[in-house]
Amino acid sequence: MASLQEGNGKGQGNEKAPDGLNRDKADGDHISEHHWLSVKDKLRAELGSQAFETWLKGLDFHGIDGNIVSLAAKTPFIRDWVRRHYADRIRDFWRQDNPNIAAAEIHVAKSNPAPAAGAQAAGDKRGRRAAQGGSSAKPHMTDSFGNILDPRYHFDSFIVGKSNELAHAAAQRLAEGSSVPFNPLFLHGGVGLGKTHLMHAIANETLIRHPKRKVLYLSAERFMFQFISALRHKDTVAFKQQFRSVDLLMIDDVQFIAHKNSTQEEFFHTFNALIDNRRQVVISADRSPTDLQGIEERIISRLGWGLVADIHPTDYELRLGILQSKAEQVSEIEIPCDVLEFLARKITSNIRELEGAMNRVVAYATLVGRPVSLEVTRDVLRDLLRANDRRVSIDQIQRQVADYYNIRLADLLSARRTRQIARPRQIAMYLAKQMTPRSLPEIGRKFGGRDHTTVMHAVRKVDDLRQSDHAIDDDLNRLSRLLES
Ligand code: ADP
Ligand code: MG
Repeated sequence: MASLQEGNGKGQGNEKAPDGLNRDKADGDHISEHHWLSVKDKLRAELGSQAFETWLKGLDFHGIDGNIVSLAAKTPFIRDWVRRHYADRIRDFWRQDNPNIAAAEIHVAKSNPAPAAGAQAAGDKRGRRAAQGGSSAKPHMTDSFGNILDPRYHFDSFIVGKSNELAHAAAQRLAEGSSVPFNPLFLHGGVGLGKTHLMHAIANETLIRHPKRKVLYLSAERFMFQFISALRHKDTVAFKQQFRSVDLLMIDDVQFIAHKNSTQEEFFHTFNALIDNRRQVVISADRSPTDLQGIEERIISRLGWGLVADIHPTDYELRLGILQSKAEQVSEIEIPCDVLEFLARKITSNIRELEGAMNRVVAYATLVGRPVSLEVTRDVLRDLLRANDRRVSIDQIQRQVADYYNIRLADLLSARRTRQIARPRQIAMYLAKQMTPRSLPEIGRKFGGRDHTTVMHAVRKVDDLRQSDHAIDDDLNRLSRLLES
């Protein structure tokens, strides 16, 4: 299976040692060290020396495992920060020197032989948790095929609330490993609401309970990438066999393969073969099966056969619960309750952004050596808070408008021109222009790849209609209120 991970490393899978490390490691390390220096230079140039000195300078190159670059940070806090903010950039720069690199993984450096007694107890504890399931050479858990599973994404760290309880319960049942009455499990919800977290948790948990089970987790993007690469190397038989040998297949963000026809076809065959053999499949997407546009009907209907679990936007209690749990983990610094409550109230978009906001506050306080307070929080997050105060996303607008006019979201985004659909579409475009900071071309793209002139036309048209048609004006007022609430 190693070859599947390789993507563009033509047939290199076979030249790998069983541990996934390159054979001529000494040479490779040498070259890679060199790459790291070059990546560092680029990072410094791009980010400026202050950010560089604070976060990146102290990172050490640790090695390359398969196609993953591994870097060591001094503390868990720096690790988390770099992972969140710079890991993708590091990967991109690294690819300029070595196109095989798929990701950069940051872990905490193994502490020196004689650590100061008592120092950093909490940090050490977390370092160990992060390293669970592997020695220092393998700082992360992987699925059965070497794909990285985020060690933070466990059921333990997943906070359950009304909005995600069905998805969570289904995921947990499935991870327990006894047979479940649904296949596939289809998780859907907006970005940053915990789909990937749950999928990694399923994989992590399954592998802890049943180490022999073959678990494969990958994004739909990666699925496509591997499939195309197998086609290119005329290796599709192996590709098929390997996929079909798994006990549990998880594909994240399937909306990605919409419109990609040959990938869809292969996905569908893999999916059917697994289901027919009673292997478990878990799929995630940012929308429900029926709203997936550009995916064939037969696939959509089959996706909907199992359990479709919707993860809804969060409520205040859940946001606060998540913040409290995260705050306990950042034991470097004390975060007062009123700050957590304030964040939970103000940052409602999604959990990723909520976490990001808390991290920014903590980073600031750590750097300038001030305690975290409401005042500091307001100050540091000024931009973000302003945006959250009146932010509505285009997705929300589309959903709300489709709902309001009782049409399918897929139709709203489709090319259909019947008036019954075209008018709501124009209204949605108009609202997108009014209520979001997005440009006309951006809005066009969000509406099934339309030209910006189409959006401009819609905006003008609705503007006119508003003057002449009371009913439309009422609709618009009502829709704005719904979206703002
Ligand atoms: P998605 O895949 O739906 O876009 P992610 O799974 O990447 O979202 O979640 C974004 C971030 O929010 C992650 O850091 C994840 O750990 C965190 N998160 C999401 N839901 C929860 C939850 N219920 N409890 C704790 N953390 C959560
Ligand atoms: Mg995700």
